Amino acid sequence: MGLVGTMFLFALGAIIGHVSPRLPTLFMTRPKGFNIRFSSHPDPVELSPYLTQRVLHLRTFYWSSFLLAGIVMFFGGVSLRWGSAGFGFGLWVASSWTILSRLQAFLGGRPAPWTHAMAVELQSVMDASRSEIRCCSHPVPVWQQQCIQCSSCKAVLSRIARPDLGRKRSDGWVAATLRLLITDGHPFTDPLPELTLEQE
Ligand SMILES: [Zn+2]
Repeated sequence: MGLVGTMFLFALGAIIGHVSPRLPTLFMTRPKGFNIRFSSHPDPVELSPYLTQRVLHLRTFYWSSFLLAGIVMFFGGVSLRWGSAGFGFGLWVASSWTILSRLQAFLGGRPAPWTHAMAVELQSVMDASRSEIRCCSHPVPVWQQQCIQCSSCKAVLSRIARPDLGRKRSDGWVAATLRLLITDGHPFTDPLPELTLEQE
């Protein structure tokens, strides 16, 4: 096989190896029936136990990529040994890269887009909005792109940027899938910066 054919098979293997571990976060929660409790993308989402649960589900899907990447690596190995070396190598490179890039979260790198701490934070903002220290008489905490804000009194309740929440995205499935493959579910923006004393 010529160089072009080998390169093509390598690229094909790399694309499959990159996409396969991400299939759960890409598609599992997108159907309409899974999102009736949430406002449609890209509107802000009201905090609720369903939202907390969604964050925990996406977190599970995110880490399940290790299992899927392991399966891809297995088939990559089989293909390297008995099938097309270029294709198998593509599968290997992309899936092992996925595992390594996600493991770096444990070495002080960027944390996962959905974390347990995030779910706890959502819960504590909800709890606070029902307690004595609530921001106003009718708090409605919603998750904006850069922060959680009360939609009644506009108080900023928590400065966490909103990751992808598994809703059907408004930009069409092709653009949405490409976007998610690039961002891996991480927010597009940084969290709302803390106000300095002068601004306050
Ligand atoms: Zn309020």
